[in-house]
Amino acid sequence: MSRQPLYLPMSLQEGEKLGIRQFDIILITGDAYVDHPSFGTALIGRVLWDAGFSVGVIAQPQVQSPEDFTVLGKPRLFFGISSGNVDSMVDNYTPNLKWRSEDVYSPGGILKRPDRATIVYTNRVHELFPGVPVVIGGIEASLRRFAHYDYWQDRVRQSILADAPADLLVFGMGERQMVEIAKRLATGESVNTLRDIHGTSWKMEVAEWRSTRPEGIVEIPGFTEVVKDKSAYARAFALHYHEQDPVRGRAVAQPHPKTVVIQNPPARPLTTEELDHIYELPFSRSSHPSYRQPVPALEPVQFSVTSHRGCFGACSFCALTHHQGRIIQSRSSDSIVREITRMTKMPSFKGVIQDIGGPTANMYCLSCDQWETRGACADKRCSPACKNLRTSHEEQCRLLSRIRGIPGVKHVFIGSGIRYDLALADDSGYLGMVCDHHISGHLKVAPEHIIVEVTKIMNKPGRDVFDRFCTQFETLQEGKKKRQYLLPYFMSGHPGCTIPDMVALAVYIRDHNLYTEQVQDFTPTPMSVSSCMYYTGLNPFTMEPVHVPKGQEKKIQRALMQYRDPRNRGLVTEGIRLAGRTDLIGPGKQCLVPSEGRSAGRFEGKFQKPKKNA
Ligand code: SF4
Repeated sequence: MSRQPLYLPMSLQEGEKLGIRQFDIILITGDAYVDHPSFGTALIGRVLWDAGFSVGVIAQPQVQSPEDFTVLGKPRLFFGISSGNVDSMVDNYTPNLKWRSEDVYSPGGILKRPDRATIVYTNRVHELFPGVPVVIGGIEASLRRFAHYDYWQDRVRQSILADAPADLLVFGMGERQMVEIAKRLATGESVNTLRDIHGTSWKMEVAEWRSTRPEGIVEIPGFTEVVKDKSAYARAFALHYHEQDPVRGRAVAQPHPKTVVIQNPPARPLTTEELDHIYELPFSRSSHPSYRQPVPALEPVQFSVTSHRGCFGACSFCALTHHQGRIIQSRSSDSIVREITRMTKMPSFKGVIQDIGGPTANMYCLSCDQWETRGACADKRCSPACKNLRTSHEEQCRLLSRIRGIPGVKHVFIGSGIRYDLALADDSGYLGMVCDHHISGHLKVAPEHIIVEVTKIMNKPGRDVFDRFCTQFETLQEGKKKRQYLLPYFMSGHPGCTIPDMVALAVYIRDHNLYTEQVQDFTPTPMSVSSCMYYTGLNPFTMEPVHVPKGQEKKIQRALMQYRDPRNRGLVTEGIRLAGRTDLIGPGKQCLVPSEGRSAGRFEGKFQKPKKNA
């Protein structure tokens, strides 16, 4: 079954045309099936097919319709279930807990994904196909693998593995694990014996746990304890956080009332050759032909390229460390050039590479010798301050030059965010090259805040570094015919941030005449350090108390970032008064809002409406 089809089959008829009577594996997803490597189901499906297994896809089944789940029959080996590319709660609700009006991963943007899709789909499959192994994976399962705070219910939930009738949970990027599961089930092993696969979590009976307690497993405070005691929650978080390294990480166990969830150490990162092979599988880069409407999420990534995985930035509000890890895994430039050359032959390609990068654009080929043998340090953060981190962007510059030279390529953009402390540490001319060739008018950067106490809690570089970067960027603008701008992302409402901190940020935005469309109000998504702080009010690594803005204070903080919006005037005025900065209210140029009852005049003229979901 190694010859790859044009699309993975979504019906028995499509399977029959390929000579398949029964699929080895059926993948169920909350997204539409888009055959592009940025879509997890396509990626895993193609990799399994490449390993010799036939794979069918059920996309966005209607929960009330059993036929949607039985349409491909019973798989020979297992069902693989995911909510899709995003957590279903993040996808279905705004940060203000309102229903979203569109799902960009669905044809025509129509909402089809149930809340808690992984649990809902797994229950349905369990009812309809009792005894068939079920493996859950994807972002939702991966980041809910331990007991976790759920913002949408404002309570601690059990591990998703304790809630869903699944046999195994695959966390992180799942290619290695999924292939091993398939191979071992194909040789007749029972799913219950698959307890040693790195990058998976599994369940042990409470009685067995009590009687055996296998050695070498780190036991963290259990669900019953963390649900009652916030300091136990923070302790549990810090313990499992430190074990998320594929080289030095140990297995972690968390008891639950009816089961014990065991997380094996993370899977070993893919090698350059393995990544090259996967990204060169024959993805059609389009949605399945059965769809009549476009899938909005495809358009911005259709001609984008993944150059690497992983991120060692470890920003507190991002759970990527728990998913892709800190170790950077880069593809070879030859492979990337081949992939792009193939794209240039596609009729819909207009000469523009929309993005090239990974979670952070400029980590391609950055490395530390220690990663291979000892993993990433548990007690230190990777940053240019560490002499072991190789920060030269030479390989990136070489790659970008090669891509610009591919016949048929007119523009190559860098759309992912650039880590500016790394760009500053580089001496190979990367930033100049980016400004000369790889941005249109704006360069996205994410300082997130300018107050040192806040950036420290966020684990971001401080204001001094951002200011130096701005100066360097400005220098690079000299002599340019068309001026470029920095597009900074700031965040409000993050743990550790107070109203005076936000007033100071508003003043900074005013003084630097910054564009503030890109407002992010902190949302506690599963398994980030910041979400742990939001719930517990504690820094899990120091156990020191952290201020957590909620309710009206959070609204004021968000409004302060868009102080020019007349609709925010009441909240902004309240915030300024609370911060004791009434000098910022009035008609003066330095003021953020006019005095009450006065004409808004110059304030309204400057405001630009925020983009949807900004
Ligand atoms: S030595 Fe430095 S770069 Fe390497 S893992 Fe440790 S902190 Fe990161």
